[in-house]
Amino acid sequence: MADKFNVAVLGATGSVGQRFIQLLQGHPWFEVNELVASDRSSGQRYADVCDWRVSDAMPESAREIRVKGLHDSIESQVVFSSLPGGLASEVESRLASEGKQVFTNASDNRMVPDVPLVIPEVNPEHVGLIDVQRKNRGWDRGLIVANPNCSTIHLVLALQPIWEQFGIELAMVTTLQAVSGSGYPGVPSLDMIDNLVPYIGGEEEKIESETTKILGTLTEDHIASAAITLSTQCTRVPVRDGHTESVSLKLRKSASVDEVIEAFSSFRALPQELGLPFAPEKPVVVRDQPDRPQPVLDRDAQNGMASVVGRVRECSIFDVKFMVLGHNTIRGAAGASILNAELLVKKGYIS
Ligand code: NAP
Repeated sequence: MADKFNVAVLGATGSVGQRFIQLLQGHPWFEVNELVASDRSSGQRYADVCDWRVSDAMPESAREIRVKGLHDSIESQVVFSSLPGGLASEVESRLASEGKQVFTNASDNRMVPDVPLVIPEVNPEHVGLIDVQRKNRGWDRGLIVANPNCSTIHLVLALQPIWEQFGIELAMVTTLQAVSGSGYPGVPSLDMIDNLVPYIGGEEEKIESETTKILGTLTEDHIASAAITLSTQCTRVPVRDGHTESVSLKLRKSASVDEVIEAFSSFRALPQELGLPFAPEKPVVVRDQPDRPQPVLDRDAQNGMASVVGRVRECSIFDVKFMVLGHNTIRGAAGASILNAELLVKKGYIS
């Protein structure tokens, strides 16, 4: 690709925004040239207003960019949004109506019927909903594609190999989610040290509804929800990055533990076939040590783009159970949006 697509990052000073800037540095197809945040930051140099919390140094190319506010005009063709929920919907729709291709991390648009909620290894065909979206809204070039909640992404990436080979009737899921999942500074340290919080507002509902949409079927003009029932409990734990989930499944077709492990290990999908730049070689990594996956050891597997499963074994109530872990701001957020955008380049929606 000779020229790169110009990119704007919304919410550029936040946890996910910083990840976008880190991950997009040197990307072969996308180049960050506009950064957008709140009135607190607009008009100032990015280096002066961003409390950079990523281990790599802030890219030189970002340091001097003057941060824009939401009311400034955006020139870039591709927009990566990490705006807070509640604010995102109106801004993202306005930008898409101006012809921008918008990739959102916020929850506002995920369950909107004509917005595809995409994990490229799971439901790449759902991008066909963009044609319905454009028709409904009178857009010719603009579009909105959402990526799921950070826990949903890792859950569904792990479910997909089992879903396609054996079917899943019931799923019981308990999450142990990192503190960075609520942004920076997030949950106060005095609530997290020596503690666990057994409640994350709205999270259980998001995981359950988003999963049935992602595993659903694209009909002529909507997504028909998948026939899977989930029961979810979400907890916040004193881990910096990396969400862990305990999963028990009732399958539609019987499978041995070895067959389930083989389904995980051999799983490859469209992004791997297409060789998308951000596609992990192995979307689902299996750890066979009895005490894995662990956030500190496993969250960066495949550059943070994989879901790591372990402790795969029989369940005495359902059929099979396992643990899954993944990075919440890489594959769970910014990396997910970038992979969605790469898929849309290949599908011809960004040109
Ligand atoms: P965050 O660290 O709190 O960052 C929020 C960003 O939004 C900052 O850049 C902030 O700019 C900007 N912002 C806040 N109010 C604004 C306003 N009124 N106008 C314009 N910009 C405004 O949050 P985050 O964790 O990055 O999350 C961002 C989004 O991604 C949320 O929708 C979240 O649900 C979603 N998400 C987060 C994760 C995760 O693991 N953290 C994972 C998946 C999805 P200022 O610095 O100028 O205030």
